[in-house]
Amino acid sequence: MTITRRLIVVTLMLLGAMPVSAQDSAKLAEQKKDAVKGVDEMAKLAQEMVDSVFSFGELGMQEIETSKYLTAQLEKFGFKVTRGQSGIPTAWVATYGSGKPVIALGSDIDGIPQSSQKPGVAYHDPIIEGAPGHGEGHNTGMPLNIIAAIAVKRIMERDKLPGTIMLWPGVAEELVASKAWFVRDGMFKDVDVNLFTHVGGNLSTSWGQQGGTGLVSIEYTFEGETAHSAGAPWRGRSALDAVELMSVGWQYRREHLRLSHRSHSIITNGGDQPNVVPRNASIWFYFREIDQPHIKELVEIGNKMAEGAALMTNTRVTSRILGTAYPRHMNKTVAETMYANIQTVGLPTWSEQDQMLAKGLQKELGNATQNGLAVKLGELGKPVALEDNNGGGSDDIGDISWNMPTITLSYPANIPGLPGHNWSSGIASATPIAHKGVVAGAKAQAMTVLDLLTKPELVKQAWAYFNDVQTKDVKYIPFITRDTPAPTHLNQAILGKYREQMRKYYYDPTKFGTYLEQLGITYPTLRK
Ligand SMILES: [Zn+2]
Repeated sequence: MTITRRLIVVTLMLLGAMPVSAQDSAKLAEQKKDAVKGVDEMAKLAQEMVDSVFSFGELGMQEIETSKYLTAQLEKFGFKVTRGQSGIPTAWVATYGSGKPVIALGSDIDGIPQSSQKPGVAYHDPIIEGAPGHGEGHNTGMPLNIIAAIAVKRIMERDKLPGTIMLWPGVAEELVASKAWFVRDGMFKDVDVNLFTHVGGNLSTSWGQQGGTGLVSIEYTFEGETAHSAGAPWRGRSALDAVELMSVGWQYRREHLRLSHRSHSIITNGGDQPNVVPRNASIWFYFREIDQPHIKELVEIGNKMAEGAALMTNTRVTSRILGTAYPRHMNKTVAETMYANIQTVGLPTWSEQDQMLAKGLQKELGNATQNGLAVKLGELGKPVALEDNNGGGSDDIGDISWNMPTITLSYPANIPGLPGHNWSSGIASATPIAHKGVVAGAKAQAMTVLDLLTKPELVKQAWAYFNDVQTKDVKYIPFITRDTPAPTHLNQAILGKYREQMRKYYYDPTKFGTYLEQLGITYPTLRK
């Protein structure tokens, strides 16, 4: 703006006759500043929520304490909560406001098996050996959204802004077992834009077709007949033989699958005892590929192979879909809006202790680069062409991204360069690194919600990209049907085994300033 133009604007402002758009953008800038201030004032609440959810350490479908706690927080701050979405006891929706636009904020809440870990300690040191924990950092995303939503809600109330904020949890993301069901059951039918958050090593976002894969997760269960394994083995039909043959068959077939594919399996039931021919046995596969037609192809190969294994062993096979995730495609308009806010927020200021922990862990893991925490903002991520996509992980946010404008905000609440799905990802997750990363992310999230609430043209542009670019040639074809039930039984046994032991370590914010303090951990604790 030239000095003359600035003078004109100032003069118009003084005259109370500033052009509407300039007036609006000055007001929005003020609202954003207030939201950022509000988030900063809730840093203590952010820490309490992050540490509490970390201490619950619950696996997918068993996020009982987590959901009870988070919904109680939301109700305390005036959000309306409905529970039990898609027949999933730990799924819920919280809303505030009314009418359009409807802006949804989501994030995952589940943990990883065998990843129990003392936070702030730069080597493997479980709180409870063998127990689950937050070995991905999913304890931080919903606290981020809640802080952002409370900050925005206060401004909506004060300035009488129309619109609705909706919060929802990514239940069982590690099993990709809820979001396709939420979509199927119309949970997002009124939503204009979905702002998803996921823990990462930087503050960033991206748009277009993403890297990584989509997947279908299927369990095959074989049924044979028992017999005395030594006395009359010829009278038995072994379901375990079928499982083993299918497993071996898949390993041979793997050589002839596309390089972009990923597949893995575990045996969920291998029989009862050696002297009884196994009547039932099950094997659980994740079939991953980079687009829908190729995922479908893998499922068809798997189904055929299961039939083959049943034929070879004279057993019967049934199968059940336990999870699905679409490859992700993120919205350009929304990502660019978020990225502008990210640049305003910037990265947190890391302390010397934060960097010591990060570098100590990177050294412990033998990483080639031990640069510690990110100190430079990442670029806005651009589309990944299918031919450049060599596969990788999945997230069922993909299913949502094909049904409405969606982005994922990645926020710096973890240490870069970790293997993932491992105890090491829990080390930063209840420390100042996570607390600061969540506060930074909540600011960008709150500012973007305000953009979307006050600038209807943004929502329109986002839908134009969604309709005219993203879904012009590619359509969403769900892998589940109307009748596919959500697999709510998963992880029951593991939590049944560990919950009572874990309960003793739940964070009590009324007695301790932080979870580190409750556990008596010096921050950071490095290998001597
Ligand atoms: Zn995740």
